[in-house]
Amino acid sequence: MAAQPRQGAQSVQDPAEPSLVAVALDLAGVAHVPRRAGWEEAAACARVDPGLFYPGQGGTVRPALRVCAACPVRRECLRFAIENGELYGVWGGLSEEQRRRLRRRARQLLRAGEARGG
Ligand code: SF4
Repeated sequence: MAAQPRQGAQSVQDPAEPSLVAVALDLAGVAHVPRRAGWEEAAACARVDPGLFYPGQGGTVRPALRVCAACPVRRECLRFAIENGELYGVWGGLSEEQRRRLRRRARQLLRAGEARGG
């Protein structure tokens, strides 16, 4: 979801976790997406009810994911969400749960690397 229509979104970035962000970006396949100013202007969700992207408990994210699937800046959006620790709502074609799993997997990989001394 573009940053502009996301009023009320909570960004929970832990500055102590830059390596977690790096691994998560890599897992999501957006580590090499360039940071491009103004990407939000091309957001497919800019003219869509923002509530779609925050369906709440028991709601469905499918309509939001359909919007994201046709969005020309999906990768930029996902990169933004991961870098900014966006916990809530659909961003970049991923639901809250999907991004949570991504962070969990990144954490596991980091721990495994630490266990091997890496
Ligand atoms: S990927 Fe989805 S949430 Fe992100 S800008 Fe596009 S439509 Fe909005």
